[in-house]
Formats: sequence, C-alpha cells, structure tokens
Amino acid sequence: MLSVSFHFYRELNDFLPKQWRQREFARQYPLPGSVKDAIENLGVPHIEVDLILANGVSVDFDYRLGDGDRIAVYPLCESPDISPLTRLRPAPLRRPRFVLDCHLGRLARHLRMLGFDTLFYRHCDDDTLLEISVSQRRILLSRDRGLLKHGRLQRGYFVRATAPKLQITEVVERLQLRHRFTPFSRCLACNGLLSAVDREAVLQRLPENTRRYFRDFFQCTDCARVYWKGSHYQRMQQLVRELAAR
Ligand SMILES: [Zn+2]
Repeated sequence: MLSVSFHFYRELNDFLPKQWRQREFARQYPLPGSVKDAIENLGVPHIEVDLILANGVSVDFDYRLGDGDRIAVYPLCESPDISPLTRLRPAPLRRPRFVLDCHLGRLARHLRMLGFDTLFYRHCDDDTLLEISVSQRRILLSRDRGLLKHGRLQRGYFVRATAPKLQITEVVERLQLRHRFTPFSRCLACNGLLSAVDREAVLQRLPENTRRYFRDFFQCTDCARVYWKGSHYQRMQQLVRELAAR
C-alpha cells in the first residue's frame, strides 16, 4: 500500500470535496498508478492542471506515484515561476479561439460580441467537440467535467458560473482575455465577420424606425444578417465597458 499526500492550489479546489480543499491531505493506493489518474480520480480534470510538483520536482502526467510522495498541483496561470519546470499545457494561443459545449449558447454570443472566433452548435456530440478542439486548436469550454477529462483534449476550461453574465466575466478573467477584445466585429448568430455596408443596399430589409433613425449598418459576410447601433448595441457596449474595466 502506498501513502501519497496531495495539495491542490487555487481554483483546482473547486473540484474537490470540502474536506480536501486548500490543504494537504493523504490518500492510500494499492498500486503505483500515474499521477494523472490519481488527480482525475480525485475529481480534477487534467485539462485544468498546468504544473505538478512531486516532492518539489516538476513531473509530467505519466509520473508513477511512490510511497511517501508529496504532490502539489497548480492550475493554469497560477504556477510559481516555472521556467526550468515542465509546463503540462501547450503554450497559450496568441489569439484564442473557442468551441463551446451545447449548453453554453449565451456565453457563445458574448464571446462573439467581444470579437472572439467562437464555434457553437445547439446539437453536437462529445466526439465532434473533441475533434474540433484538437484539430482546430480551439479551447473547449464546457460545464461537463467528464468531457474535459478526455485524454485527447489539450485545451479546455471548466466554466464554474451558471449565469451567462457571470460566465463571460469568469472566462475573460481566468483566460486573461481583457486586452484581446475586438468588439462588434463578429456576427452573434453565426460567428461570421462583419463589414460595413451601404445603407441603400440593405434598406428594404430594415424595419421602418430603423431606416429613419440609423445611418451606419454592418452585415455578416457569412449569413448576411444586418446590424446597426440600436438599443441592443448600447446595452452590449455597456457590458464590454464593464468587462474591460474590471
Ligand atoms: Zn452571420
């Protein structure tokens, strides 16, 4: 029987039962399995882990547990200065792109509003989401821990909040997106890019009041949906300002 102690840092504690949070605790194992299996069996998806220290030395996910080991586990962005150590996540993407699980439609619209390339499908199975994330190097956002524990996944994040406005605030903060906004550059409905369009070209498709009061129009280059700076735009602009200021 092996005895191994664990200490999880910062938001990794969100996945642990109360008695193991923010402290060192010991577990017994009959056989020396991998540290990755041990971490996931404790409830923490590997995709949230950026650094593991075994007795003060950085190790990768294949490290075999030994009797008396002390394991410290750090999340993304919260590791100590780790230049000589083994980062477990691939280097951050210069311009993050996303694919969202089917239950995160409002978050998808918010990310598109901020200009992030965000794929979202109302009906999409887990294998397809994983395939898109891996092959297109997109960060998979989900509230499904099982999906985020999948071994193929390289980039993912478990969204803690359930309310849409708190979700976008959380994702902007945790993934450090604040300086990467290009607001109102993407279609909220389909993720296509927007470009300015002549008022005359879209006049027939606009409601009477809109024709009268607005001069600047934008059109999605994919689905041809037309946008203008109405009351909805003002509300979104307020949200962008709040997110940028936090
Ligand atoms: Zn569109």
